[in-house]
Amino acid sequence: MELPVVVVGAGVAGLCAAEKLREAGLEPLILEASGAIGGRVRALEGFADFPIELGAEEVHGADNVLLGMAKDLGIDPLRHFTTDDMLRLDGELCFLDQAEKDADVRRAFEFIEGLGSSPGGNWTAEEHLIRRHFPRRAWHYLDSRLGVEHGTTLDRLAMRGFLHYEKGWEARETNFTVKGRYLDLFRPAIEKLRDRVVLNCPVKSIDWRGTPLLRGLDGREWRTQTVVVTASLLVLREGVIAFDPELPGEKVSATRAIGMDAGMKIILKFRHRFWDERLYFLHTDGFLPQYWAAAKGKSESSHILTAFIGGSRAEALARMQVDPVRFALDELDELFGSDLARRSFERGFVADWSADPYVRGLYSYPSTNTTEADRAALARPLDGKIFFAGEATDTAGHSGTVHGAMATGWRVAREVLAVLGS
Ligand SMILES: Cc1cc2nc3c(=O)[nH]c(=O)nc-3n(C[C@H](O)[C@H](O)[C@H](O)COP(=O)(O)OP(=O)(O)OC[C@H]3O[C@@H](n4cnc5c(N)ncnc54)[C@H](O)[C@@H]3O)c2cc1C
Repeated sequence: MELPVVVVGAGVAGLCAAEKLREAGLEPLILEASGAIGGRVRALEGFADFPIELGAEEVHGADNVLLGMAKDLGIDPLRHFTTDDMLRLDGELCFLDQAEKDADVRRAFEFIEGLGSSPGGNWTAEEHLIRRHFPRRAWHYLDSRLGVEHGTTLDRLAMRGFLHYEKGWEARETNFTVKGRYLDLFRPAIEKLRDRVVLNCPVKSIDWRGTPLLRGLDGREWRTQTVVVTASLLVLREGVIAFDPELPGEKVSATRAIGMDAGMKIILKFRHRFWDERLYFLHTDGFLPQYWAAAKGKSESSHILTAFIGGSRAEALARMQVDPVRFALDELDELFGSDLARRSFERGFVADWSADPYVRGLYSYPSTNTTEADRAALARPLDGKIFFAGEATDTAGHSGTVHGAMATGWRVAREVLAVLGS
């Protein structure tokens, strides 16, 4: 039987595309490689007395569509204030309102505020800081706020990309987390689509010479008029899905030009809280540039610090072949002293996204090779038959986010409907 549309991937983009297609009267089939719906929105249960987000954790920006969805569901988002962030400066930990009195830190704040009007040349953020003789003392704050936030390191992140990113971004300073699971925000869509999703069903190949034919790793086949591919940039770059005919050159080049790096969250649970109650983000000058108090506002009795690392640092950590949990504990003991972290440590968990064969890394970011045309090329449909969504195909400056992935799902649904005439 020939289906009207098959969606590859039940992450946010796939869910949003399928929901719109369903509303328009089509019954999309969704093939998902992993054993769960959500993709890079996934929570760890049973580790603490609340679900810990392994992927997306924050809702970025006060105008975010996700906040409206939370309101409709009666979910109260937790707002985080940058005044609750701490920075290590000259070996001392201090809150940002204190640190702000330092001229070098103020320069770092001004640098972030002025990004929208930065020259955005074709060089990395690191090269930009060197050219500007930016003081090394405050460099690590930018590493944490810009490098880590974009899922990479300053030596990979392109200044030119910022311009585009900043133009499309509203209320960037305001961040929220969700009480419960992030994926709860998608509960209505998941409930409507659950019986249309086939889990543990990796798509091995897509033959689109005639009417598209999808083949699963287990030998199953689906003939369909249209296909929506939502697999991550690295899944496409590394040829996990074989296309016949092969993907056109512009798409292959785009998968190489846009950045997406290895990375992980290191989640540490402690018996006691040895950090200030007010702390949310901790920006350090260590090898792991950023931690946050993941239980803040969510649990009184669980004491969690999550470290996040991507880019060249995540690759270096992998090369060192150390246990990331032990590594983070050593760094925390160096930061807080008196073996506080080690003595209070209860358990750890590493969410290494590079090890997920159907994601393979964190999320896309602008590298010095990326042009605005690359994301458009990645998004461009093939022959009115194969359509592309997913965070990396966002062209409005919201790539690497949940709301960016959602927008691509809605966009691709419009494209499919235009072709199928619904
Ligand atoms: C550690 C981490 C932290 C993040 N933090 C934030 C944050 O705080 N805020 C924010 O807004 N965003 C954050 N993000 C980014 C956000 O999670 C993603 O942008 C978004 O979830 C991507 O959705 P997607 O649908 O494009 O891709 P995915 O979620 O990757 O969905 C694609 C799906 O396709 C499936 N798939 C792949 N190949 C195949 C195949 N061959 N056959 C069948 N299925 C296949 C995959 O298993 C996956 O489920 C974070 C991401 C990570 C990894």
